[in-house]
Amino acid sequence: MGGILKTPFEIGGRWFKCNFHSHSTRSDGRLAPEEVCERYRQAGYQVVALTDHGLRGYPTPKTSEGMLVIGSAEISVKAGEQPFREYHLIILGVDEEFSVSNRASAQQIVDAAQSAGALSFIAHPYWSGLVDSDIVALKGVIGLEVFNAGCEYEIAKGISRVHWDNALAQKFPVYGLAVDDGHHYTYDFGGGWVLLKAAALTRAAVLTALRTGMFYSTCGPEILDCRVRGDEIYITTSPVRSIAFVAHHSGGMQVNAGPGGLISEARYTLRPEDRYVRVECVDGLGRTAWTNPVWAAE
Ligand SMILES: [Zn+2]
Ligand SMILES: [Zn+2]
Repeated sequence: MGGILKTPFEIGGRWFKCNFHSHSTRSDGRLAPEEVCERYRQAGYQVVALTDHGLRGYPTPKTSEGMLVIGSAEISVKAGEQPFREYHLIILGVDEEFSVSNRASAQQIVDAAQSAGALSFIAHPYWSGLVDSDIVALKGVIGLEVFNAGCEYEIAKGISRVHWDNALAQKFPVYGLAVDDGHHYTYDFGGGWVLLKAAALTRAAVLTALRTGMFYSTCGPEILDCRVRGDEIYITTSPVRSIAFVAHHSGGMQVNAGPGGLISEARYTLRPEDRYVRVECVDGLGRTAWTNPVWAAE
């Protein structure tokens, strides 16, 4: 491998804790928009996206100092002809002027978002019953939810790591996001989040960091450093029970602490056949963190 893109640990900027999927009383959430933002602010987040269901964006509520609210939407559209397969698209960075027709296809929605200066990602692929071909058919999405707390704690379909790897194996470059998808703000609050490195706490800087993959996702473990040095990828973390280097097909490697043990660093020598490598670590409570993939040069 070679020609590796930089990781967020190699650039300047500040870290921000973000939740990019939440619902309020504007759709089927239990809390008013201002209350959603306040809950996240009190829990130490700096960025929240209000992604109420609907074909349009909504006015962004007033929020407190130090909290960036990103006007957004979640739009559902059928995937293919079979029932029970549906895209839920998160459109980040749109306010009330944004709307799409209820006859628009998923690709038309992604394109409309792009034209509006927004970005989109695929929500909960496992919960939605999406197959690999649905994901790689959608050009221009920046990522998919590798973890969705609501989907996980309601029906155990919140973890979409296989969907992610199957897309990456087909050279479909998507990032992995961990989100809450809060409706109730009980079990679906604070389960998974994104730590993002951005130049400033502004919508433009946050969207740029998302587009360039300058973030990692986690349900608990902290990633302290992760970078490629020569032909080696090296990571340091908060104490975890395993660190996995996940690669194309049967490549990759997992380092295990062993029964009752914990580790906080690991390294992996990149192989010529590795198309990409991403790192996952799991802590003693079974909570996972995911880096974005690093790619082989063509
Ligand atoms: Zn959804
Ligand atoms: Zn949702």
